[in-house]
Amino acid sequence: PKKDQGLSRDLYQLMEEANLFYQSQLRQHSDKQKVLDYLDFRGLSSTVVEHFGIGFAPDGWDGLLSRYRQNQSAQDKLLTAGMLIANDNGKRYDRFRDRLMFPIRDRRGRVVGFGGRVLGDGTPKYLNSPETPIFHKGNELYGLYELKQRHRDPQQVLIVEGYMDVVALAQFDVDYAVASLGTATTAEQFQLLVRSAKEVICCYDGDKAGKKAAWRALETALPLLKPGDVVRFMFLPQGEDPDTMVRQVGKEGFEKLMLDALDLPAFLFETLTSQYGTDKSALAKEAMALIERVQDTVLQNLLLENLAHKIGMNSADDLKKKLGFAVKQQQPMNKKGLQGRGTPLRLAIA
Ligand code: ATP
Ligand code: MN
Ligand code: MN
Ligand code: MN
Repeated sequence: PKKDQGLSRDLYQLMEEANLFYQSQLRQHSDKQKVLDYLDFRGLSSTVVEHFGIGFAPDGWDGLLSRYRQNQSAQDKLLTAGMLIANDNGKRYDRFRDRLMFPIRDRRGRVVGFGGRVLGDGTPKYLNSPETPIFHKGNELYGLYELKQRHRDPQQVLIVEGYMDVVALAQFDVDYAVASLGTATTAEQFQLLVRSAKEVICCYDGDKAGKKAAWRALETALPLLKPGDVVRFMFLPQGEDPDTMVRQVGKEGFEKLMLDALDLPAFLFETLTSQYGTDKSALAKEAMALIERVQDTVLQNLLLENLAHKIGMNSADDLKKKLGFAVKQQQPMNKKGLQGRGTPLRLAIA
């Protein structure tokens, strides 16, 4: 552990050095104009660029590496930190080349990884740091440190998909967004957010992937919610993401859209209703599978209550009675040759 601590300390130090290097390249590299043009094209102000410490990894194989030519031990650590890559011959080169660099900070403000965006249409669009001893991307949230600097005890936090979304929102003074790094928001990230803010609002892109991400977020959040935790879901018009949206409608327009965010039960039942339509037993079956996973009994009862009304029962108690009845009745009914009529639930509600 002692040795690990020493290694981690060195990795943090080197990540901060890399961060300063990328930032300096944005000010002084001979290619800097094309980066400034790209920032301009994306509508990013120098203020927000500085606030998030955005930098530039120049093209070439050894922009960062060349600074450590005489320092083998630093190079080894940069490899461990995911900043260098070794080819089959052991030759080392920069992972991030010709990219706009977003430093990812942990809760204590230490740089633990980077996201690098191509300056245009190349692929991959984003290159992210790999998992390293100091970077576990399922545990980090891009922008959380910056948010906490501004709001000690935030009322609400927005979860968005991308770096650009966080930065653009902040530029328009919606300075309480964070991005889950990668597509799915993890249980750890949710846990962190529901502890950090009174209300968590998921705002994924207005496309098919974004809708899927929202549903996955609901499934992830359900088991860990406690009474009083508020998770809501906001949907953007087709083709928009928070970045493009806030640029069109500004802070005021964006926050108006936030007011329409669905609470978790509403999103759950609206989705199931649109999926199952009038097939109440199928809806109930799917709903029960989700509700079963809720650990908190108050929330579970609330959802049962919602479900009961949705399928035309008076109360959760009625629903539970029916379910209990159905489960107990299943055996004799099966004996009477009623197998294949479906699950107990189907029998109860039919
Ligand atoms: P931009 O506005 O710059 O195009 P975006 O954030 O809108 O970026 P999306 O395509 O919506 O980009 O992707 C959302 C997030 O998913 C990105 O910010 C990034 O973190 C991640 N991502 C996207 N493409 C890749 C990729 N090819 N590899 C790894 N991560 C990616
Ligand atoms: Mn997307
Ligand atoms: Mn975008
Ligand atoms: Mn997007």
